[in-house]
Amino acid sequence: MIVLQSASRDTRALQPLLTVKPRQIRRLLLPLPIIVLMLIFGYSAYYLSNQNGIRALTESGERQLGLHTRALESEISTHTYLPSLLELESSVSKLLLGPSEPRRLKVNRYLEGLNRRSGSRAIYVLDLSGRVLATSNWRDADSFQGEDLAFRAYFQDARLGKPGRFYGIGSTTGEAGYYLAHGLRQHDKIIGVAVVKVRLQALEERWEQARLQAYVSDENGIIILSSDPANRLKAIRPLSAETRTKLASSLQYHWSTLDELKPIARQTLGPNTELLTLAASSAQGAAAEPSSYLAQTRQLNDSLWSFTLLSPLQDVRRQAISQGILAAVAFALLAFLLIAWNERRKVLATRLAAREALEQANNQLERKIAERTSDLRASNDRLKAQIRERRLAEETLRKAQDSLVQAGKLAVIGQLSTSIAHELNQPLAALRTLSGNTVRFLQRGALDTVTSNLATINQLVDRMGRITASLRAFARRSDDSGQAQLNKAMDAALFLLHPRLQETPLQIHRAYSDAHLAIDQTRLEQILVNLIVNALDAMRAQEQRQLWLDGRVDGAHYRLQIRDNGPGIPPALRKHLFEPFFTTKPGEQGLGLGLTLSASLAVAAAGSLSVQHPEAGGTAFELCLPLVPHAETHPHE
Ligand code: ADP
Repeated sequence: MIVLQSASRDTRALQPLLTVKPRQIRRLLLPLPIIVLMLIFGYSAYYLSNQNGIRALTESGERQLGLHTRALESEISTHTYLPSLLELESSVSKLLLGPSEPRRLKVNRYLEGLNRRSGSRAIYVLDLSGRVLATSNWRDADSFQGEDLAFRAYFQDARLGKPGRFYGIGSTTGEAGYYLAHGLRQHDKIIGVAVVKVRLQALEERWEQARLQAYVSDENGIIILSSDPANRLKAIRPLSAETRTKLASSLQYHWSTLDELKPIARQTLGPNTELLTLAASSAQGAAAEPSSYLAQTRQLNDSLWSFTLLSPLQDVRRQAISQGILAAVAFALLAFLLIAWNERRKVLATRLAAREALEQANNQLERKIAERTSDLRASNDRLKAQIRERRLAEETLRKAQDSLVQAGKLAVIGQLSTSIAHELNQPLAALRTLSGNTVRFLQRGALDTVTSNLATINQLVDRMGRITASLRAFARRSDDSGQAQLNKAMDAALFLLHPRLQETPLQIHRAYSDAHLAIDQTRLEQILVNLIVNALDAMRAQEQRQLWLDGRVDGAHYRLQIRDNGPGIPPALRKHLFEPFFTTKPGEQGLGLGLTLSASLAVAAAGSLSVQHPEAGGTAFELCLPLVPHAETHPHE
């Protein structure tokens, strides 16, 4: 019991080891840094992917840029030398030096044929005042014939001997085109100007077919060619008021407003590379989102024009976003796995700690059990030793008691010896007389008398035998176990006391039933003899002696009361009654062992002997003894 209690105390001591409270707080705060890290990872992946995408786009853009600028250059260069060719044509110089209708017609026809062959839009010749003398489209209604183009910058440049390059919108047709002008010389003197107008729209159509987004800006920063028609004739950089006036006066772009192409966002990446976000053009619809482009610009050879390639960043952005999401998700997954792994590790560690603590507690418990067991063994050994000692003492006591019982018996026998001797002497004397008489009657031949005498002799011998047998039985040693029959014991006791009862007249009132008592037969007889002898002794001086023997069943016990009408016991002596060797009887008559022994025999049989002092007088001893349970009674008794 003690061991178990201490064990439960030990297990209670383990409990704090198994509960971890701050973990819950940590668990609540954990998602925040994970989300922040997820965003950082996601953004980093997006940023790197975007940068890589832009780099790759830049590289491929560079290649495309080379291709397209060369295509543009070759397109232009095809017509570059066309105006200077007219210098070789004598009819042209003749017309310039001396204009006349036939000469004009001739030149017109010549120019018409040349224009057809070269695939240009128009070829025409101006005199030094800027008036058109001859033109390839002389047959058309909107012919340039006679028009004054002195205001055109290309004319002014060519007039001064510089190559006139000009992209503009035709003042007559309103059609855009590339004008190449050349000062026609004769003897190092400029006599006129030859102009070729080339349409570059074919390039735009080709771009559209190839789904290429690009534009070409001229020396003024005006977009002259664009894959997106909405961007055409827009300024790529702010125009000063002075430039605007100059351009308006030259009518280079006709009456165009020359709005600025304003990107929503612009980021310069390199000398000729930038990121542009352009508003959606009206062609794409009002709801369309602004688009971002990588804009790479390259200047054309022998020209002030620039070719700008616009590579949409949409795909790069989309890929970067998906890679960013992928990285964030991968990080979240990794974080989740790490957390799960960490949790598992903690659980395992807690389990391990619990197991260790349990083992420790177990070891402690075992140690304590071992200690307690050895304590118990020691106290067990001590107990065994004590039991041995007790047994020895009991044995000694029993032996002493036996000796006392024996002594008590012998004392009774001693007390009874006079009356026994008397009892035996009587039949002996009778035997002697009878045997003498019988001999005489035998001699006389009175056989009837002899027979009756012998019968009497037989009876007397029987009686003597019974007396000695009962004495022997009384003196016999007995033990604690056994069963007794009350009637039999009472008869034996009264028979033993018969001589004394004969001496003094006595009235016995029997009021008990036969009972099976759990005490040795001889011991019960001995108790009864002691109590009856004491009663007889007490009533010695009494005239009318009366003895009451009353019995009754009391539960599992039987109570037998032996009451006399003697003088009773003086109160001063009552407490000494059961003391050994207490006697009031004079001389050898009393040993003072009778009550002591009777009481100890009753107690040994799990019963008791007590004394009562009835008010009516006399003394009553009550013997209480356990009844033998019905099933245990020996059938032969
Ligand atoms: P003993 O008979 O040898 O004296 P007991 O132990 O039997 O020893 O009795 C002790 C004393 O108790 C007796 O001497 C007697 O004085 C007293 N006593 C016992 N029985 C009675 C009795 N029935 N009436 C009066 N006195 C008694």
